[in-house]
Amino acid sequence: MHGYSVNTTQEERQVWDNNFRGGDVVRLKNEKVVICGAGGFIGGHLVKSLLDDGVDVVRAVDFKPIHEWYQSSDEVENVEADLKDLRNCERAVDGATAVFNLAADMGGMGFIENNKALCMLSVLINTHLLMAAKRANISRFFFSSSACVYNADKQKEARVTPLRESDAYPAQAEDGYGWEKLFSERMCRHFEEDFGLQCRVARYHNVYGPLGTWTGGREKAPAAICRKVLQAAISGKHEIEIWGDGNQTRSFMYIEDCVKGSRMIMESDIHEPINLGSSELVTINQLVDIAEGFAGIRLARNYNLKAPKGVNGRNSDNTLIQKSLGWEPSTALCNGLWKTYDWIREQMEIEVYVNRIA
Ligand code: NAD
Repeated sequence: MHGYSVNTTQEERQVWDNNFRGGDVVRLKNEKVVICGAGGFIGGHLVKSLLDDGVDVVRAVDFKPIHEWYQSSDEVENVEADLKDLRNCERAVDGATAVFNLAADMGGMGFIENNKALCMLSVLINTHLLMAAKRANISRFFFSSSACVYNADKQKEARVTPLRESDAYPAQAEDGYGWEKLFSERMCRHFEEDFGLQCRVARYHNVYGPLGTWTGGREKAPAAICRKVLQAAISGKHEIEIWGDGNQTRSFMYIEDCVKGSRMIMESDIHEPINLGSSELVTINQLVDIAEGFAGIRLARNYNLKAPKGVNGRNSDNTLIQKSLGWEPSTALCNGLWKTYDWIREQMEIEVYVNRIA
């Protein structure tokens, strides 16, 4: 048995659960795994999690110079390569049996609303990786899709109905980034149907946590808000700029849930794209409240209504993942955000120290 499917019996789930937790019989343990986008936030955590469980991660690949990767391990062959190029994809998957594709040119709303062409060019990464995987007879391929594939008409209200997997159609995805993800999902589907390449697709909903982007323009709301609150606390200038009116709603998934869910989906028999997200819905104002609580301050809020803010409301319907895996992301936002806030505080302290001695 290769994990859960919708038809898996309770007894089979128990056996699989025990195996999954046992570590020794983790399915990926028999695979030679390649992680693409390993220098990024989620890719770095995934490499670490697999190595910790004794999985044979043969290669980690990213476009960025290795010294800029958030995490790297000497146990793995670390490769700097542009995966938009087919030849580099062929080299990346050489000798592997399972591929996780987390590589994409992406960032928070500020980046994706202003860089639609760059976002769409990531289609080359997934397409060429699929072609290389087919040629190399890879047994399993994972694609990291996004909640940005969902139809914008279903996200007009802050009090949004959680998005079910079927809400991606009729298609009206986030322009640029979302269309690329939707197209790449379908590419995975047809590579499975036409060529038998086993593909697994997770639709991530806003992932956050330590060891990810927190400054520079590509950061997402949780990291940006933690950083702004910390800057206000340090500078004594007790005000904060918030993009939009602060009433837009989102759910945020802690990185540990993301890694665990990605691995479970990869090992499962779930052939359709599936939500991987928290269902704890908050407004951006509530996110700021939590971060202010960590700092022990209250800030004057300046709402920038011209800044990119994305859809008005978005939440993850977790019916399918519960039914298929008997599990869903459950880290409380205040717990995960505290760890993120604390890590960003450390990074800011390091920056101050480095600037002082420079
Ligand atoms: P990230 O930006 O930290 O990681 C992506 C990595 O891909 C980066 O290190 C980048 O250098 C690398 N990359 C970009 N272009 C490349 C290329 N041409 N060749 C090789 N590597 C390249 O982002 P992340 O948050 O870790 O996201 C990982 C995946 O999950 C992405 O596909 C992203 O679209 C998807 N996703 C993330 C979120 C989220 O909230 N973080 C939400 C939905 C989907």
